Amino acid sequence: MAIKTVWIEEGCILCNACESESPDVFLVTDSTCVIKGSVREDGQEDENRNAKSPLKAALQASLEAGIKSAAAACPVEVIKCE
Ligand code: SF4
Repeated sequence: MAIKTVWIEEGCILCNACESESPDVFLVTDSTCVIKGSVREDGQEDENRNAKSPLKAALQASLEAGIKSAAAACPVEVIKCE
């Protein structure tokens, strides 16, 4: 089943691994990692920790592999999805 939403819990260490794995979804800033607005239904660009905005339905299938790779690559396991 496709990943419907992805968010970042507290504790990101700005290692950049997620952005390398899935640059369409993740953007590492000076202070945190965000889920890009371009792939979110709500268009916001933040950790998506509170809103848990769904990914755009048309993109969910194509983004899934990259999100799984990013979550596996995150050394502190703060990338969560469902
Ligand atoms: S892989 Fe994890 S720790 Fe590294 S920048 Fe992304 S969310 Fe932060």
